[in-house]
Amino acid sequence: MRAPLPTSRGPGELNGTVIEIRDLYKYYGDQKAVGPLSATIEKGQIVGLLGLNGAGKTTTLRVLACDLLPTSGSVRVGGLDVVERPDEVRARIGYLPDTPPLYGEMTVREYLRYAAKLHGVARADLERRVTEAMELTETIDRADDVIASLSHGFKQRVGIAQAIVHKPELVVLDEPISGLDPVQIVEMRELVRSLRGEHTVIVSSHILQEISETCDQIFVIRDGEIVASGTEAELSGQLLQGMRVDVTVRLGSDSSPDRVQDTLKEVDKVREVEAVDAAEPGKGIATFRVLATGDVRTDIVKALVAADVALIGLTRSERELESVFLELSKTTGGAAERRAKRKRAAKAARAESNASTPPSGGAA
Ligand code: ATP
Repeated sequence: MRAPLPTSRGPGELNGTVIEIRDLYKYYGDQKAVGPLSATIEKGQIVGLLGLNGAGKTTTLRVLACDLLPTSGSVRVGGLDVVERPDEVRARIGYLPDTPPLYGEMTVREYLRYAAKLHGVARADLERRVTEAMELTETIDRADDVIASLSHGFKQRVGIAQAIVHKPELVVLDEPISGLDPVQIVEMRELVRSLRGEHTVIVSSHILQEISETCDQIFVIRDGEIVASGTEAELSGQLLQGMRVDVTVRLGSDSSPDRVQDTLKEVDKVREVEAVDAAEPGKGIATFRVLATGDVRTDIVKALVAADVALIGLTRSERELESVFLELSKTTGGAAERRAKRKRAAKAARAESNASTPPSGGAA
């Protein structure tokens, strides 16, 4: 029996499938880059493809964008097969590759007109679509500047503008935050979020925080396979069998550290509570790390409110998320072993050929 496909659909949502990937494999020569990979992605979501370098993110996205042919398996976008109907699939997709396909000598407006024409936007709609794409990506103030004069962050925005200028159903963004500074990262995150609803978005990254803050659903890819999928909370639950939450409160005459700790311990599913360094410096503020067997955040808020304790912060522990990702991304013995085996075989072949070749330049 076939295992259920990892899906981006949340419980009770029946929006319709935008992407359906079944048993996808992609080989470069005899090297497997992706496979077996199966997944479905539902309409209107922002989905993150998270994996370390070389995990297979770019290869998967290039197959989706009809930029590479799969070796085997089937990939459908909006019900259309990427091998059988690539032109129709391309019309439904906006794609920002890891290196944006920009022409430095063109102005932003000229380039977006060009991209819109390539995507088949009707002449009557062209100027409106170009203006809309520039407004959404906040590049309109630089419309008449040549692309070569823009910062890397702006170039990425223009790259996204070309991906959405034809209003595609699906927007595929390969590492859009790569090389951006912290301010540009925050702006890019907002831009990606602003695409939600009108488009289904799939975004790749090797940075957990980017994915977890921007995406509704996460697919973790390792050695070309999806090893876990779900919301951030579901992934933590799968791996850690629970959740770690940092709770910051304002202490008062009625809320001593001991009383707060006791209140937290009484919450259902809480296993352990420990006082940790205060998340904010200052007197009268304390932070407690809560270990629980499930998502206890709502119950913690209720318990603290009932006990009249002033809650000033409640966050999932960052280290928890990091550890989930690192655990999920650890390369399997399989891939590492195959690489080591290839190296050993090459070394043995070299040794053999050296042994059978008479040494040159030796003593006569
Ligand atoms: P990165 O974030 O570093 O780009 P990635 O997760 O996007 O990594 P891919 O670029 O898809 O991963 O690469 C997956 C595997 O395929 C890697 O082992 C990579 O070396 C290999 N690979 C990618 N492109 C080619 C190519 N054109 N020819 C041969 N091997 C390739």
